[in-house]
Amino acid sequence: MHRHQIVIVGGGLAGLRAAVEATSLGADCAVVSLVHPVRSHSGAAQGGINASLGNHPEGRDDNPDLHAFDTVKGSDYLGDQDAIRIMCQDAPGRIYEMEHWGTPFSRFDDGTIAQRALGGAGYPRACYGADKTGHYLLHTMFQQAIARGLTIYDEYYVQDLVVEGGACRGIVAYNLRRGTLEGFLGDAVIFATGGSGRVYGRSTSALINTGTGVGLAYQAGVPILDMEFVQFHPTTLYGTNILMTEGCRGEGGYLVNGQGERFMSKYAPNFMELAPRDLVARSIQTEINEGRGIEGKPYVDLDLRHLGEQVIEERLPGIRDICLHFAGIDPVETPIPIQPGQHYSMGGIDADYDGHTQLEGFFAAGECACVSVHGANRLGGNSLLETIVFGKRVGETAGKYVLGLEPRSEEIGSRAVADGVRALERRIEELTRRTSTEDPYEIRRLVTETMDDYVQVYRSGDGLERAVALLRELRERYPKVGVRATGLVFNLDVLRVLELERMLDVALAGAEGALAREESRGAHTRLDFPQRDDERWLQHTLAFWTPEGPRLDYKPVVIDQFEPQVRAY
Ligand SMILES: Cc1cc2nc3c(=O)[nH]c(=O)nc-3n(C[C@H](O)[C@H](O)[C@H](O)COP(=O)(O)OP(=O)(O)OC[C@H]3O[C@@H](n4cnc5c(N)ncnc54)[C@H](O)[C@@H]3O)c2cc1C
Repeated sequence: MHRHQIVIVGGGLAGLRAAVEATSLGADCAVVSLVHPVRSHSGAAQGGINASLGNHPEGRDDNPDLHAFDTVKGSDYLGDQDAIRIMCQDAPGRIYEMEHWGTPFSRFDDGTIAQRALGGAGYPRACYGADKTGHYLLHTMFQQAIARGLTIYDEYYVQDLVVEGGACRGIVAYNLRRGTLEGFLGDAVIFATGGSGRVYGRSTSALINTGTGVGLAYQAGVPILDMEFVQFHPTTLYGTNILMTEGCRGEGGYLVNGQGERFMSKYAPNFMELAPRDLVARSIQTEINEGRGIEGKPYVDLDLRHLGEQVIEERLPGIRDICLHFAGIDPVETPIPIQPGQHYSMGGIDADYDGHTQLEGFFAAGECACVSVHGANRLGGNSLLETIVFGKRVGETAGKYVLGLEPRSEEIGSRAVADGVRALERRIEELTRRTSTEDPYEIRRLVTETMDDYVQVYRSGDGLERAVALLRELRERYPKVGVRATGLVFNLDVLRVLELERMLDVALAGAEGALAREESRGAHTRLDFPQRDDERWLQHTLAFWTPEGPRLDYKPVVIDQFEPQVRAY
């Protein structure tokens, strides 16, 4: 059995930032990750990371208060304003820290960190490194983590959260490389497991982002928050749904329909292509649904041609590469075919801005957590920011927590973790022995199809009822699945079957939350309830796991600075 004071699950930006902080405080820390840390989805981030540095000539008087206001308004007033204020105030410090640690940000001619406009922001405040911002940040953070002697267990799939005596004691993981099941005992466990995007088929997320972390916490009794709020990115490449960063529009790209119109003038006359994502995604979807896609097909064009080759090469080289390799087109010469696709999970494990959850010894930060700084709609550039701001804070919280614990018997938790390992052994044995009557891949396909079809940009009561019924039926079929491949070394069949159980839970929590919420707010748009309803619904949705499905409850939003207003862009 492995023992560490702090066990961090997830090697993305949030997990590594937590590790940097906790190891700096002197805590013994390990990161357990399904993939090598630098392969985490954080590395795919393109467009930028927000901080009110005021470097841009058009944004000299930017400040954390203005950043907070844009974020609250962007969230359609569902974000918690105390947490948002912390994030915006901490932002410049965290960015300069990354700069000093060596992140190669793009620069203005005067040598300051370059900033570009992203949607829903009154000021150009996204710092970036070309269109590879996440890659640069993640590699920098990885170096900082290993320089502090962090222990890393990669290619481990965490499948169980061990709770004993009302506190979290550790985790159980499947070591894919060796084909063994291993227990980790920890005084504190931090989840930084990323988003749940892959419960959808059309998604920009990495294939590993299936929401296991969220599902594990949920099943262990920790409530999950606002799962109905899913961000659909307006511009994903038609056919593969690879992200075409908002930076494309930040640099001046146009959205054009099948009739050659820059249609955003109808929907957001002031902000045009740089309105917040929920609004732009709805606008594109409306154009497509009303037959104004390109040649009537389900996509419109993202036109960058007028930017010229030099700007595209300098600021959007990754986008050009992706277009050449995955669509066979050069954006210098041809508009990019795009459609909205799932992009980000606003909901997640209910956590406060210091990373506490409702379970003693269990903490969460990053995309798997809902703090909530994004509310009903996240602004571009605020998610990378969330990982480093709240990653640092959770590392500090957990570090102080373990260093402050009274010395206690080595026995505490060991039996529970060992029992967890044995239970997983039995479960996998049974899976391999069972003559399966259900195909797990078929069930997985149906989950993602159901989410794509009904829990999408536009939702309706009928559609959501259908989604809930379908997901409940799939959940009943799940116990009859088995695995075909034997042996445990890199048995991806086993991995997919284990993942599927959490995907079903996470998808159902989202669909049920969406069905219950009879209003339209941010990314949650109900055709049958088109208005925002602050009287009834200015509240967060909590989902508690039960064997029958989620039990929903609600809690108030923290509103202490900006009173809700009608959003206009
Ligand atoms: C294509 C793309 C582009 C983006 N661009 C931007 C942008 O420009 N600006 C912005 O602000 N945001 C952007 N985002 C969002 C942002 O990148 C993510 O929200 C953020 O990086 C998430 O970081 P994280 O550390 O929480 O999780 P991740 O980076 O997703 O890391 C999750 C980690 O958890 C591990 N893990 C998960 N489950 C398990 C398990 N069961 N067992 C073991 N390990 C597990 C994984 O191995 C991984 O290491 C983008 C997202 C995408 C998909």
